[in-house]
Amino acid sequence: MQTQSTTLVVIGGGPGGYIAAIRAAQLGIATILVEGDQLGGTCLNIGCIPSKALIHAAEEFEKASHYAQGSSLGIQVSSPSINITQTVSWKDGIVKRLTGGVGALLKKNGAQVVKGWANIIDGKTVAVMQDGKEITRITCQHLLIASGSTAVELPFMPFGDKVISSTEALAPTEIPKKLVVVGGGYIGLELGITYRKLGAEVCVVESLDRILPVYDEELTKVVKTALKQLGIEVQLGVTVQGMNATNTAVRVKNAAGEESEITCDKVLVAVGRRPRTQGFGLESLMLDMNGRAIKIDDQCRTSMRDVWAIGDVAGEPMLAHRAMAQGEMVAEIIAGKRRHFIPAAIPAVCFTDPEIVVVGLSPAEAQANGTEIISAMFPFAANGRAMTLEANEGFVRVVARKDNHRILGWQAVGKSVSELSAAFGLSLEMGATLEDVAGTIHSHPTLGEAVQEAALRALGHALHI
Ligand code: FAD
Ligand code: NAD
Repeated sequence: MQTQSTTLVVIGGGPGGYIAAIRAAQLGIATILVEGDQLGGTCLNIGCIPSKALIHAAEEFEKASHYAQGSSLGIQVSSPSINITQTVSWKDGIVKRLTGGVGALLKKNGAQVVKGWANIIDGKTVAVMQDGKEITRITCQHLLIASGSTAVELPFMPFGDKVISSTEALAPTEIPKKLVVVGGGYIGLELGITYRKLGAEVCVVESLDRILPVYDEELTKVVKTALKQLGIEVQLGVTVQGMNATNTAVRVKNAAGEESEITCDKVLVAVGRRPRTQGFGLESLMLDMNGRAIKIDDQCRTSMRDVWAIGDVAGEPMLAHRAMAQGEMVAEIIAGKRRHFIPAAIPAVCFTDPEIVVVGLSPAEAQANGTEIISAMFPFAANGRAMTLEANEGFVRVVARKDNHRILGWQAVGKSVSELSAAFGLSLEMGATLEDVAGTIHSHPTLGEAVQEAALRALGHALHI
């Protein structure tokens, strides 16, 4: 068995861990990243990237199917079909390119990668295991835990056979005739819509009385209408009880206590993810916890000196860009820079069709803080570019302080609005006012003009509505 000594050990090569390792190496910190599976973590291998690839493929296929039924655009297509094996291998190609790129970046910057499962011995020692054998023991000054999260399993409906998690849903060998999706959150709706567009009948079962409970209802209403138009059945306020005796249907119970069965070929369970804190000796550090997540301060320090935690293992919001931003910050703090994790906002995007983006405070959140606000929305129905894209649904909404017009938040729902998140985030980080956005020339014709018009409308003088 080898032994090594370094300044920083990073456990986990997901977006949090690999960014931390790259930045630390750039800053001249001797860094070893330990990854037991594939570099890129959940995000690149079984999360953000493969899901967005399948979403795109499904969208293209649905477009072709739609045109086959006749199109006012004059496009004629006959009997489109999809070879799902080829689609999955195209998606795998993108994943491979990106994960290979992560490996190359780590190498280029001088971070060492050790393949194997890290087992924490103490706050300064990690044993790396391969096939149950310790291959190396590393001592370090700083230990960064970036072990991510895993899908929550329902105890009465464990993963296996017909019951799948997002991981299996992202690598289909065939499209099920009927899919039941348990959970109307991010994964349930992004993948539920994807499977519907790929030809499956889809029924979403959500225990709360609304879909996407993290977003405000004005935004989700637009998605709800789209689900209906797509032919996706949504059952709200319904709890799942398990599979029936013949394993052919999901048993559900509604709020009135009435039980029924929904037949299906597959069940995608997407009821959340939980921080990965068990099975690698983390418990032995006895760190302070925040529920199931490792408790951290605004520098991502845990309760043990020089032990840090970032990303999903440190709890909500479990988003890749948050993990990356924390990773970059921790590397800089270890290098001696003064940094704190106090972003003006962490954008959140749901890649449904239409997409939802929120950055900063909603009107209700701002008011709950006791702030007097101005809020205005501009509908895509009044935006020329949206019309040319056949994307009239949705709107952009701005929230600003009433006294000095400083922007507190943006929300949008509509086709491709995820791309507006950059402008939204920038305006919040730079402390922009409504006048700043209203006075910025936005190119025409773009969906972004709706951003300027929302600001103009909040000031009382929108031009196109
Ligand atoms: P992870 O990416 O989970 O990486 C952790 C890594 O640590 C893994 O590679 C794991 O193998 C490794 N590891 C764990 N324990 C050990 C150990 N003991 N030794 C060695 N290695 C270990 N977020 C977005 O922002 N946008 C999206 O569009 C989006 N889409 C998603 C879609 C799906 C289907 C899923 C499941 C998630 C999605 N997410 C999305 C969430 C995003 O993937 C996570 O927030 C992000 O990956 C968290 O990064 P992380 O570095 O904290 O952990
Ligand atoms: P989620 O928290 O987004 O949604 C889970 C949904 O399941 C909720 O609406 C919840 O009310 C419902 N639910 C919980 N238990 C249930 C039960 N027993 N029966 C029926 N419904 C139940 O979780 P997710 O969709 O699994 O995604 C996990 C995390 O991954 C997200 O929270 C997010 O952090 C991340 N993610 C992000 C993106 C993105 O950024 N676009 C995409 C996918 C995943």
